[in-house]
Amino acid sequence: MQKGNISVQTENIFPIIKKFLYSDQEIFLRELVSNAVDATSKLKTLARKGEVKDPVTDTTIDILIDETAGTLTIRDRGIGMTEEEVKKYLNQVALSSAQDFVDKYKDEASIIGHFGLGFYSAFMVADRVEVVTKSYQEGSEAVRWTCEGDPSYEIGPAERDFYGTDVILHISEDSKQYLQDAEIEALLNKYARFLPVPIRFGTRTE
Ligand code: ADP
Ligand code: MG
Repeated sequence: MQKGNISVQTENIFPIIKKFLYSDQEIFLRELVSNAVDATSKLKTLARKGEVKDPVTDTTIDILIDETAGTLTIRDRGIGMTEEEVKKYLNQVALSSAQDFVDKYKDEASIIGHFGLGFYSAFMVADRVEVVTKSYQEGSEAVRWTCEGDPSYEIGPAERDFYGTDVILHISEDSKQYLQDAEIEALLNKYARFLPVPIRFGTRTE
């Protein structure tokens, strides 16, 4: 298990994100589903070029609620990420772009919801985010990244059968509505229609 700190100037960007985006916090689902769709489309393109070893058959994106665990999971069967990519894209790129965004628009809270905030919008509704991912690249091992909404994160080995990424949101106390089927169904109807990849939504009972 390794520990590290996300490189970011402002010590605590997450409360800022929460505050400014509060009224539009539901966009987190749009952002995470769009990342899942991007990852799936990329894998399909690579497969067409013959660059993917395992056949790409099922490309369904699953949205899973586990009420007991208090989690909402967005699971794709896309390109996944290597450990290096997790560090690069989730720790550096996503957070710094989220920060640029907040710096730029913090005086215009009303328009914020109209722009994408990307991966870090997950922290609007979750106090812990786990990412379990396995890259399509040969020899890649699955990794688990965990971040509790401050600049520190953990990364370590994980188990995963197929390429792709699970983004597991540990939903915070004040966002419990996102553990309800009807709420997620409504958001998927609003933000996730006419996508090039099938989306499946069902309640997990474990
Ligand atoms: P953007 O989608 O605009 O690039 P995000 O903050 O949404 O910005 O995501 C940052 C990066 O993290 C993505 O560009 C991608 O490289 C990586 N990423 C995020 N989600 C996934 C996913 N589900 N599968 C693979 N890579 C992902
Ligand atoms: Mg994105």
